[in-house]
Amino acid sequence: MNTQPQTTLLGLDLEELTRIAEEAGEPAYRGRQLFEALYRGRVSSADEISTIPKSFRHRMGELGLAVGLLGIDRKFLSRDGTVRYLVGLEDSETVETVWMPEGDGGEEGDGSDAGERGWRRATICVSSQVGCAVNCQFCLTARLGVRRNLTAGEIVGQVIAVLNDQNVSPPLERVNLVFMGMGEPLLNYENFVKAVRILVSGVGIPESRMTVSTAGIVPRIYDLGGEAIRPKLAISLTAANDELRSRLMPLNRKWNLAKLMLAAREFPLRNREKLTFEYVLLGGTNDSREHARELAELVRGMRAKVNLIALNPGPGLEFGTPDEPAVLAFQQLLLASGIPAFVRRPRGRDIYAACGQLKRTLEAAT
Ligand code: SAH
Repeated sequence: MNTQPQTTLLGLDLEELTRIAEEAGEPAYRGRQLFEALYRGRVSSADEISTIPKSFRHRMGELGLAVGLLGIDRKFLSRDGTVRYLVGLEDSETVETVWMPEGDGGEEGDGSDAGERGWRRATICVSSQVGCAVNCQFCLTARLGVRRNLTAGEIVGQVIAVLNDQNVSPPLERVNLVFMGMGEPLLNYENFVKAVRILVSGVGIPESRMTVSTAGIVPRIYDLGGEAIRPKLAISLTAANDELRSRLMPLNRKWNLAKLMLAAREFPLRNREKLTFEYVLLGGTNDSREHARELAELVRGMRAKVNLIALNPGPGLEFGTPDEPAVLAFQQLLLASGIPAFVRRPRGRDIYAACGQLKRTLEAAT
C-alpha cells in the first residue's frame, strides 16, 4: 500500500521540480525533463514521460508524486462556438473556464488581430479563485462570496485541461489568455504570478498574449508593474465618478478613483503596450452622454483604450442591458473625444459563459 502523501506536480516550477528530482536521488536535469513533460507535453501521468527512465517513473509512484491534471466535470456548448467548462478540483470544488474560438473582441481590440483565421485567435478565460470577495453589484460570481484561492497548479491546470480537450498546442497554435474568469486575480497574487510564469516558460504562451483584469486592487497593481514577467493589465472601471463607482463596486470606498488612476498612470508600460479600461454598460445607470464625457476626461492623455461591455444579464441582476444603438452611441462619444474605444461582443450568453455570468451553480437552480 502506498502510504506516502500525494505531491501534485502541476503548478511546481523548474526549481521545485529540480529539487524533487534531486531529493529522489536523480540528476538535476530530470527536473527540466519533468517540467517539459508536464507543461509542454501536457502528460496525464508519470508513465507517459518517455524521456525519464522506467525505474524513476515507478519510484515517482512510490514517492506519491502525481501529475494532478484537472478533470472536466461538465461542458456547455454555445451556439456561437463558445464552450464553458466546469473544471473539477481536488476538494470537489469547481471553477469555470471558457474557450472562445474567435476571441471575445477584447484581446487586442486595436485591429492587430485582423487577418487571423478561425480558432487561431482563440482565447481562454481563466478563473483565479473559487467565488470572489469583491462584490461588484452587476456580477454573478460575487453572489458566491469567496470560497478559496486557486493554487498555481489549479490556474495552470485549467489552461491545460482546455488545451487538451481542444487539442491545441501553443506556441505553434496561437492562444490568448485572459484572467477574467471567476475571482479577483490580484487578491490571489502569489499563485497568479507563479501560474503566469509557468504558462509562459512551460506551456509556451507569450506574456504579450495574456491580459489580467482587476477590479482595482491598487497596491497589487504597483506590485504587478514591478514583475519581470507579467500579462497586460486591464482595469475594470465601470464608473468614472466615485459616488457611482462606490455604489456599483464597493471596493472603490477603499481604493477610490484618484488612487486607482494614479496607479494606472504610474504603471510601467512596455513598448507599444496599452492599458485597457473595461466599462460594463448598465442601461440607465452609467450609459448617458454625461457618463461618457466623464469617462473620456478620466482617461484622457493615457496610453490606454476602453473596452465597452454591455451588461450580460443573469438571474437576479437588477440592472438593464443597453441595446446595441445605445452602446454604439456611447462608443461614438468616446471616439469623438479621441479615446480609442471598442465594443466587446458578448460570447456564450446562452450558456451563461459571458463576462460576469460565471457562477458555479447550475442555471436550473438559480
Ligand atoms: N475580478 C476581475 C476579473 C473578473 S471579472 C475584474 O473585476 O476585472 C471580468 C470582467 O467582467 C470585468 O471587467 C467585470 O467588470 C466584467 N463583468 C462582471 N459582471 C459582468 C456582467 N454581468 N456583464 C458584463 N461584464 C461583467
